[in-house]
Order: sequence, then structure tokens, then C-alpha cells
Amino acid sequence: AWFRELGIINDFLTKQGYQRWTLFPIVAKNRLCPLVKQHDRDQFAQIGCWLFDCQLPSYLKKMSRKTLRNINVEFEAFLRNRIKTGVDLSEILWEITSYTSEIKCPYLLIQNALSSARLVIATYPYLINPILRDILFTSMDILPSQTTIIIDEAHNIASGQIGHLSFKKVQNAVQEIDIDPILNDLLSMKGEKQLITYEPQEEDLIALRKKAKRHVKNQYEQGRKVVSSALEIYRFLQQSSNSYIAVNGNFKMYLQDPRELLSVIDDCKQRILLSGTFRPLDYFANFLGVPNAKKINLTSYHRRKNRIILTTVDPKLTLRYSARTKQRFLYYGEVLSEIIVNIPGNVLIFTPNYEITAILANLLRTSLYEKPQQNVASLIQAVQTSLEKVILIAPARGKVSEGIEFVRDEQSLIKAVIIAGLPYPPPTRSLKQLAKKYAEIWGEEQAANYLFFLPAEVAIRQCLGRMLRSKKDIGAWIILDNRVVNLDLFNHSISCRNTSKIIYHLQTFYQKHH
Ligand code: SF4
Repeated sequence: AWFRELGIINDFLTKQGYQRWTLFPIVAKNRLCPLVKQHDRDQFAQIGCWLFDCQLPSYLKKMSRKTLRNINVEFEAFLRNRIKTGVDLSEILWEITSYTSEIKCPYLLIQNALSSARLVIATYPYLINPILRDILFTSMDILPSQTTIIIDEAHNIASGQIGHLSFKKVQNAVQEIDIDPILNDLLSMKGEKQLITYEPQEEDLIALRKKAKRHVKNQYEQGRKVVSSALEIYRFLQQSSNSYIAVNGNFKMYLQDPRELLSVIDDCKQRILLSGTFRPLDYFANFLGVPNAKKINLTSYHRRKNRIILTTVDPKLTLRYSARTKQRFLYYGEVLSEIIVNIPGNVLIFTPNYEITAILANLLRTSLYEKPQQNVASLIQAVQTSLEKVILIAPARGKVSEGIEFVRDEQSLIKAVIIAGLPYPPPTRSLKQLAKKYAEIWGEEQAANYLFFLPAEVAIRQCLGRMLRSKKDIGAWIILDNRVVNLDLFNHSISCRNTSKIIYHLQTFYQKHH
């Protein structure tokens, strides 16, 4: 999206007689390395250039500053002219990998160009992970105080959770590298009921990494595709300082104080957080430790007209944990069936989890629903190719809810999104303990808001975002859970007493837009 937008801006600048901009993408090495093959991609992602004993990095070090500068200037001009209307990241990466230069490696080419870059785009880890952040600023040869940082889709960083590791990985790592002090510590945490603070010795971490890398290299040399669990543990623990670890069949890492996430860059020139989900803005700003940030609300006038937002106060429509009975699911099935027949097109239904997804799919007699670990390509294809109305059911925070487009000829194929039950995170023991810790910072009520309400809001907005993909799209958002009144989600929703009212508003809306 950023390349597409900058392409339009660049073409406009050229017409006005101004200089175009270059945007340098920082992507994983395995997307650019010319030596990497499909079968060794994952191993390369773990241990990098050492896998192939590649000599190009040392060759680069021997090149003169002048030569490197000249290469930069030419490459920058090349990239600048490629960023034009209609371009996207994959095309840009293709252009970069096809570019010939003395450096011979597209990844090193970008690394080298960073020292003169004015505009760089990278993923969150380059901001959150202290080691990657350091690499980025060092490569750019720039101080945070000289930088403006824009965080797009910034609601994603407002969760407090910064890492996840399955217990199985630790067991696998023991098979890989045998006895190790860090693995012993992690194994001894099994069954721990309290939040843990754990900061391994630096030399132990380095030793773990060394053994794990050696393991991957040995496997590669023996022609095996095996990747290292120990390296995943190393990555997980890189952020363990200032964090809590919760053990509950697996390990989850939470920031001790989420306000610290942005404080590490509070000496930069400007921090700009962008999100279509930040609402209420004050909640997010306090959680992220920027309560005094200037908050700017941008509402699209056009958007208000092309969608209808219906909520319910029906006392039987809630999927709070204590209400999840057979009768309640049957009632949801009835209400959904009545509503769906009044929607003139495809419908996406989102539920709180996979289990409820399967139950509702059964009640609505649809085979199109997302299952755990599923590749959702077949579901997308079913929606895109069907000549009949499709009902697709999926869990909030599943693959369908996160960034999948149901589009044909640049128009959305979805006429309504229904949220059947609000997707609050399950109140696990560790989340409740974390709420107590966060209450010491913000007080009990606000801590609960941050840990339960904010994630639900973010998940709901992500689900709803699947419907309107262009200016021409129209459709309905229907929230079937009366607890929606506790969330400050929408400015212009219509609260409906019962299912008949919902149907009345749907019929009126679709007739008007027919
Ligand atoms: S230096 Fe470049 S070509 Fe060599 S292994 Fe690394 S990414 Fe691949």
C-alpha cells in the first residue's frame, strides 16, 4: 500500500516539476538472496549468509567509500523512477533483484543504500526488537533525534503481548543441542502458576545461539531441511528484559509496562501513529504512554453513507462465557438464518473462536468455515468463484479476519459482515494476573479495559474491515452481541430491539442502494 500511494505521489510530483521520492524496503534476506532456493529458505531465514559461506559481505567491506557512494547514487535514482502509479512491493522487489551492480547481492545493495536513505519502510520488529532497531539506525547512520517515525496500523502494538513460544519448541531444542542452562531454566518453569520475570545471562544466550546455528548448518550440509527450535527460543528471549513470562501450556511474553514500547524512541523528532481502529483515542494514547499526543480524528464522509451499522439490545444475544449453552447457540442459529436471507449477497460471519465457528457452520449448514491451521486459499477461492450467495464463517483473529481481500474487479464481494459474539480474549489465569500488575499502573478498571476491551475492539474492526474495499462498495455491519453497548465502537450505529428491527433496517438500506 505504501509503495502504491508513493507511486501516485511521485507521478504527481513529476507533473508539478518536483523531485520524486525513493522508499527503501527493508525485507528479510530470504526474499532477496539470489542463492536461496525453496528448500533452504527457512534455514537461510534462521542463520543467514553463513549457510552458504557467502563471501560477498567481506567483498563489500573491501570496496572503497567512493565506489559505494557511486553505487548508492545510481541505485537510488533507479528505484526512484520505478516507484510510480500502480506499483507494489513485490514489483519493487523484483526490480531490485533484477538490478545489476558491482555489489552483486540485492540485499547488500539495500543495506549499503540505507546510509543515504531519506525514507525507509520496515516491519515492527525493527522498532520493537532492540537488536534490530540498533542495526537499522546504525545502517542508516542516523540518530533517532533526526528521525520521524510513522507507525502504521499502530493498534497492533497496543496489546502488551510481545512474544509467544510453545513448550514443544523447548523439548525439540533439547533434542537439538542437548544440555543447556537456558533450556533447563525453561523446562523447570513448566507448571509455574505465577507470572515470571526471567532474564538469562548474556553469555548463555550467545552460547545457545551458537550451538543452534551450528545445528542448522550441519543439517543443511547433510541435505536435511530441518530448522532450529533453539534459535526460535533465542529470538523469544531477546526481549525478555522488562517483560513477564506467563506459563500456561506454552510461554507468552508481556511487557511489564506497555508505555515503554514507544519510550525507547521518545527522543525522535516526531512519532506519528496511524490507525483506523484507534477509538477511543485516549485509551490507546494512555496505554502506549503518549497521553499528551495530539490526536487527530479523520472521518470519511463517504464511508458513513455506504454502510449501515446495526447493533442489538436483545437480551438473548450475547456469547459471554456463562451464556454459551446449547439453547443459546440454537438461538444464534435462528437469528442468523433470518438475517442472512435479507442480505442480497455474500456474508461473512465472525465468531469468538474456532469452536463456535464450527457450531454455527453446522447450524447454518455451510461447509465454508475456517478451521485451525487451515490454508484459507480454498475459502477465498470459493467466495471469488461462486455464482451463488456464499456464507463464510470464521473466528475473529483467525486468518480470514486478518487482511484477506474478497475482491473482484477492485470491488468487494462481501455485502455484510456479522459479528456473532464479541471476541473478548479468554480470561485466562495469566491474563488475570497481568491485569493485577497493570492495575498498579492504571487502576483496576482501566487495566481490565486495556487487556480485555481493547483487544476485542481491535479484533472487531479487523473483521469489519473485510467488507468495504473501494468507494463503490456498500454493505452492512451487524453486531450480534448486546455487550456492544460497553464498547465505544461507532459514531453512527442503529441500536435494534429485536431481529425484526434489524431486518427492517437491512431491507430499507439495500433497497435504497439497489
Ligand atoms: S550476501 Fe547476499 S547473496 Fe550472499 S548469502 Fe547473503 S544475501 Fe545471499
